[in-house]
Amino acid sequence: MPSTMRKPFNPVEAAAVQAAVERAQTGQASKIGPDPTLHSQDSELRWMEAVLRHRLSLHSLGRPVAIHTRDDDTHPLVADGAHFPAVALSIPFTDGTLDFLATYDDRRRLTFDLLAPCDRCGKPVPTEEINSLEDLGDYLLQARDGLGGSPRLRTSPAHAAYCLARSD
Ligand SMILES: [Zn+2]
Repeated sequence: MPSTMRKPFNPVEAAAVQAAVERAQTGQASKIGPDPTLHSQDSELRWMEAVLRHRLSLHSLGRPVAIHTRDDDTHPLVADGAHFPAVALSIPFTDGTLDFLATYDDRRRLTFDLLAPCDRCGKPVPTEEINSLEDLGDYLLQARDGLGGSPRLRTSPAHAAYCLARSD
């Protein structure tokens, strides 16, 4: 059980749970429109932060939400890549952080994984694809039975060397 379940939800988590419940009740996710465009003057880190803000509808919370963004030293930006690092994004709260990893999936779409401790080795690994506020709410409610985790969970180089959850 993730540590987030032991504490009251912070404002982002509370909004996520509400969105997930509404999606479950109506069968429809909120329409958020296309991702922000990457303009040539933007840095890729800034753009990824803007995309995460957009996908999680953070502007709708009515309060500023900080996101700390940096290169991730452990994961590649694309599957089997080596030259470009993935991007780590953290949303800090008084009681902890929500940590995301931005990579490109095998269809070259920008995707966000929530980082959480591996069940087996405890290292922070890509655990669940979170590309909407509803996804985050489902994760927090542990309602993602059919999804089976992020495709990057098994391939993450962040696992301990002995970890059986990792496969090549
Ligand atoms: Zn592991």
